[in-house]
Amino acid sequence: MGKKYLIANWKMQLSINESRSLAQELVERLALIKTDTSIVVCPSGPVLSQVAGVIRGSDLLLGAQNSFWEDRGAYTGEVSPANLKELGCSFCLVGHSERREYLGETDEMVGRKVAALLTQDITPIICIGETEDERDDGRREEVLVQQLSLALADAFRQPHNGQHFIVAYEPIWMIGSGQMIESEDVIASAQLIRKTLNELCTAAVADKFCTVIYGGSVDTINLSGFLSCSGIDGALVGGTSLTADNFMSLVEIASRS
Ligand code: PEP
Repeated sequence: MGKKYLIANWKMQLSINESRSLAQELVERLALIKTDTSIVVCPSGPVLSQVAGVIRGSDLLLGAQNSFWEDRGAYTGEVSPANLKELGCSFCLVGHSERREYLGETDEMVGRKVAALLTQDITPIICIGETEDERDDGRREEVLVQQLSLALADAFRQPHNGQHFIVAYEPIWMIGSGQMIESEDVIASAQLIRKTLNELCTAAVADKFCTVIYGGSVDTINLSGFLSCSGIDGALVGGTSLTADNFMSLVEIASRS
């Protein structure tokens, strides 16, 4: 098993003050425990620099929720990987289903973002997953393979030079839904992701440089079950990451798993 990751996606759920207080509380509480799990917080864009200041010198790592694919230029409203790097981000979510649904983010755009982030040495957290209809139509495998292949197409045009990347399997019907997914389905998806990666970039590269995690309604009851799924080395967490009590419970569970 590889290093474990617990990644908090705060989405657009918190005010600036709430984000800073939550980060501060996590810093203080994390200092009191021992954990090998890498803990990443992904605040909303406008709060990144303030949260970066709060967590500086702690074990918390900073992630962004989105990035553009160019480092500079006339792209009003976008944020460059270079700026994210300057702000102290070492991770960035890419292709979250909410961005695909509400902002029209396509697989090709995801691919450009992944390549640009890797150039800045920012670890992309590539979100892939099927809708409920796609699952019911038996298209889960086809969707995952297509999303993953296009997400990595631009990056793998160059020889891989040692950057880490994370693939988050997030069945869209599980996000924020509180529904249940069978462990066998999570394991089968993790296996499919590994098989696809092996074909895209060789097993040697995939084993060493890619981490696969699960996301979708992770909470204090189900986290240990997800972490015990073969091929899953962490979790991407939305709702349960929004209070220090809940998130620290997840940290403690992950540390024991
Ligand atoms: C997410 O949006 O990435 C997510 C996992 O959300 P939740 O944990 O609330 O389902």
